[in-house]
Amino acid sequence: MDTRDLHDKGLKLRREMFGRDAVEQRMNAFGAFGEPLQNMINAYAYGDVWSRSALPQVVLTHGHPDHLWGVLDANDNPIYPNASYIISAVEWDVWSDPDVMQKLPAAMPKEQIAKGAKNHLTRINNKIVTVREGYEIISGVRVIDTPGHTPGHISLEAVGGDGLVIAGDALTHILISFQHPSWKVPVDHEGDRGISTRLRLLDQLATDKRRLVAAHLPFPGTGFVERKDRAYQFVAG
Ligand SMILES: [Zn+2]
Repeated sequence: MDTRDLHDKGLKLRREMFGRDAVEQRMNAFGAFGEPLQNMINAYAYGDVWSRSALPQVVLTHGHPDHLWGVLDANDNPIYPNASYIISAVEWDVWSDPDVMQKLPAAMPKEQIAKGAKNHLTRINNKIVTVREGYEIISGVRVIDTPGHTPGHISLEAVGGDGLVIAGDALTHILISFQHPSWKVPVDHEGDRGISTRLRLLDQLATDKRRLVAAHLPFPGTGFVERKDRAYQFVAG
């Protein structure tokens, strides 16, 4: 099935799950900035992976809305009733903390995010598996700690081929995260830790020449990291 067909199949499924209006609202929320990511989500998340009925495991890199709130349908039922949900033990503690709202970055709509995380995690509570660095999701795919964006943010690394790192929100911006990795990010829970994680990750990716996937990079959302002008650049492909 080519990408266009996958996209159309995914958009149809997404509308069935959340309602047409909710999907339109989400797809238009960030205008042209979000369009490539939304198209990728339609094609690959909904059209390919999420249309498989027996998905056994979901990995949550962290508890932010755009990475967690997709686990429930419009009626707050788990979309994959048979799946287990993998989250780091530290991240689970972050969002289970009754005082989480006070600890969120000032740049965030704190109440909405804290309540939403609680609601979503409560409804999948009995399917949660808390893990630590080194946990193998499947053979050859393991969890690595990439804290800072949130205290328990995890990424995945896979062996084989070029090698692969799925970095969640550890690297979020096509220019700033690579050209200015030492700038503090307003939505990082721990700004300084976010910086050291970014610098470590970028150094490793540039040295190892492993493929990178990250959630907020422009379509196709995958590529390689190269050193440039005492910093880095993202080379899509
Ligand atoms: Zn995030």
